[in-house]
Amino acid sequence: MNKHIGFDAIVVGAGLAGSAAALVMAREGLNVALVERGQKPGSKNYFGGAIYTHAIAEVLPDFMERKPKFERPVTEAGFWFLAEDGLTKMVTQGGKLNAEPADAYTALRADFDLWWAAQAQAAGALLIPKTTVVDFIRAAGGAVVGVMTDRPEGEIYAPVVIISEGVNNLLTQKLGLIDHDLEPAHQALAFKQVISLPAKEINARFGLPDANHGVAASVLGDVSLGLPGMGFIYTNKKTISVGLGVMLDTLAEYQLRPYEVLQRYLEHPAIAPLVAGGQLLEYGGHLIPEGGWHDMPQLYTDGAMVVGDAATMVNALHWEGTNMAIISGKLAAETALEAHQQSDFSVRTLAGYEARLKEGFILKDMKQYRRFSRFLETHPEFMGTYPAFLNDALGGFFSAYGKPKRQLFTEIYQSLTGRRSLFQAAGDMLSMGRAVLGW
Ligand SMILES: Cc1cc2nc3c(=O)[nH]c(=O)nc-3n(C[C@H](O)[C@H](O)[C@H](O)COP(=O)(O)OP(=O)(O)OC[C@H]3O[C@@H](n4cnc5c(N)ncnc54)[C@H](O)[C@@H]3O)c2cc1C
Repeated sequence: MNKHIGFDAIVVGAGLAGSAAALVMAREGLNVALVERGQKPGSKNYFGGAIYTHAIAEVLPDFMERKPKFERPVTEAGFWFLAEDGLTKMVTQGGKLNAEPADAYTALRADFDLWWAAQAQAAGALLIPKTTVVDFIRAAGGAVVGVMTDRPEGEIYAPVVIISEGVNNLLTQKLGLIDHDLEPAHQALAFKQVISLPAKEINARFGLPDANHGVAASVLGDVSLGLPGMGFIYTNKKTISVGLGVMLDTLAEYQLRPYEVLQRYLEHPAIAPLVAGGQLLEYGGHLIPEGGWHDMPQLYTDGAMVVGDAATMVNALHWEGTNMAIISGKLAAETALEAHQQSDFSVRTLAGYEARLKEGFILKDMKQYRRFSRFLETHPEFMGTYPAFLNDALGGFFSAYGKPKRQLFTEIYQSLTGRRSLFQAAGDMLSMGRAVLGW
């Protein structure tokens, strides 16, 4: 690589945030380097998951015409509450059946990220794959003016760098934007399998009329042995993505082996028939930064901004991360464009990135959910006690015992109070309200 190669902007990481940032800047005529450590975009990336179209449309309004690499539209979404011997579903198709484009699509990142980065390349960004950024080049006053890569003579110069390195925020730390590693209690290790089945079989098992319908479910309860964590199941065209995330400290404390927890989930009597006979195509794991608001780094410094997972922009309850990554990438790119117009790459201009984030939903949501990760730590009942109670209570309600109904209701009441006193249950609900509504 040429020693003094110079660009108008460098983006580190061709994930969702990075390619969005590169696309927005390149489209406006900036000379952008998009540096990705993987063989190609997506080769290192892993998620559940579903991608939200509102975010893609904000960056690329005509995205549907560009044949995005989606799997199925999400036409049914919700929570599945798993007990040891049963499953209660709270799912909705509300507003989802005829939406065009759908609000969310399931996707496989190896395909989607490649397509997403190709949109940035089509806009003029130069993708530099198989290249890891290892450090920054700083001016005398400390401003970032480029990056050092792992290639021989691999310095690349630009007056502004967007750091979209994902959850392993080594560069963000190197720049002093955050002064600590994310704590194990603030990171989930998520692991999943992609299981191949004929589309017809997937449709039949999930009650879907055809491959233009799909399910996205968050699974709570026995999936994580009632410990802080959450499972998921997504239907793709000819595969099912199924997995779960468990907090790192919980895995260590209970000495759980991720593959054993996942295997146990797959063998659950309500889950096993959904994946039975399928062929395992992929198995992998990835961290999710769940510390939220309190773990967010400083978002900008002279010559650099941090976006997406690197800035812990994830809402664990709603499985939102892709949309925050894409939108934060776009907002950082718009700030970089403004910096070019003003020829000022200092914090004076780059502070505009945080101001833009404050105007939209990202920082508002991050602040509102600021207690959520602590809530998960302190209220494992929502992962164990309540899903089990819900299954008992509804299972009982929809059974005929040949007993007076008053006795049934007494038993349901006792099934709750045997687990949590009414006082504790009221406190739990209040804590959940505070964690979700941000009171
Ligand atoms: C199991 C799981 C399920 C999830 N499900 C969902 C879901 O259903 N919906 C949702 O919205 N979100 C979901 N998320 C979260 C979502 O995947 C992330 O929030 C999102 O991928 C963040 O995008 P990003 O661009 O910030 O980071 P990433 O997608 O992680 O991209 C970072 C990129 O940077 C590259 N990189 C890193 N360091 C360097 C370096 N030094 N030099 C060069 N390149 C580098 C990486 O190779 C990678 O390509 C899930 C996450 C996991 C793990």
